[in-house]
Amino acid sequence: MNVIELHYNLWSQLQARRERLPHALLFSGLRGLGKFALARQFAASLLCETPLADGTACGNCPACGWLAQGNHPDFRLLQPEALAEAEEGEGEQGKESSKKASQQITIDQVRALDDFLHVGTHRQGLRVVVVHPAEAMNRSTANALLKTLEEPAAGTHFLLVSNEAERLLPTIRSRCQAVPVAVPSAEAAERWLAAAGVMDARRWLSLAGGAPLLAEELGSSGESQLIDALLAQVTRGASLDALAAAAALDKVVKAEKGERGAQHGPPMKRLMEWAQKWLFDLGMARAGLPVRYFVSEAAQVERVARCCDPRGLLAFSRKSLQYRRHSEHPLNSRLFLEDFFLGYAALFNRR
Ligand SMILES: [Zn+2]
Repeated sequence: MNVIELHYNLWSQLQARRERLPHALLFSGLRGLGKFALARQFAASLLCETPLADGTACGNCPACGWLAQGNHPDFRLLQPEALAEAEEGEGEQGKESSKKASQQITIDQVRALDDFLHVGTHRQGLRVVVVHPAEAMNRSTANALLKTLEEPAAGTHFLLVSNEAERLLPTIRSRCQAVPVAVPSAEAAERWLAAAGVMDARRWLSLAGGAPLLAEELGSSGESQLIDALLAQVTRGASLDALAAAAALDKVVKAEKGERGAQHGPPMKRLMEWAQKWLFDLGMARAGLPVRYFVSEAAQVERVARCCDPRGLLAFSRKSLQYRRHSEHPLNSRLFLEDFFLGYAALFNRR
């Protein structure tokens, strides 16, 4: 199933603006909505020589062929080296080089655009540059890109993609027309996940906050080990043994390091993100509102929420932001978790 089907209205709007397309667009929204895939499809659509009626690239013309092979002369993709390697490699070798691969788009990559932008297009058509993710630029790189955005070369379109548009330089944002990408309808998202063969689609979709590509990634990446281990502890509420919980989770986190950690981010950070979502849902349930993330476990959320101290919960939820911030490199993961679970257990001992 094509990502366009998830965002069909947006796609139609983009197509309607084709003839008077601004020089730079900024696709922004939550992680896992398919913004990058959508921007790529739109780039393909702009470059295609015989697009279909709805604007989709035909897939058969020479331009589509070059793009598919990664050598279209009028297309550039700026992304961190590490991302490019992850895309190509997917586990095969690559390990040695990925140690050095940059997590950032480098200033050299932006400078290399100069030549590209100042020779004529090969197909007398358009040039397209996709920048993904746009927040992966430091200030000097962003400023170099800004110069290019300020002096638009004719027929050139920049498609920036960002999960965290608020972190971009305001001057970059103001040069781009915003393309906010919304959470698709649950119906469309579930169809997408079913087509992708994801089991438990509904559960993953709510855990992913409605973002279908993130749900797919979570559902197929074994994230449930981390989530289930956390749930096994936090659902105990008043009968939680904080030190035992910390020991159990510490084991899971350590096992998650290594290969999976490299691929999906530091496990402690991911664990703390889930913990934060759990606390958020407890707060919702406590306020009599529907839970957002742990929808499949709503009954347990509500049961636990009933016996926790609401004020303490509010304070601890705030504190969980700090846990999350410090979770990438805790000095001692066991102590870090003990601190967290002691704080959590205290929510239930205030009668
Ligand atoms: Zn084509």
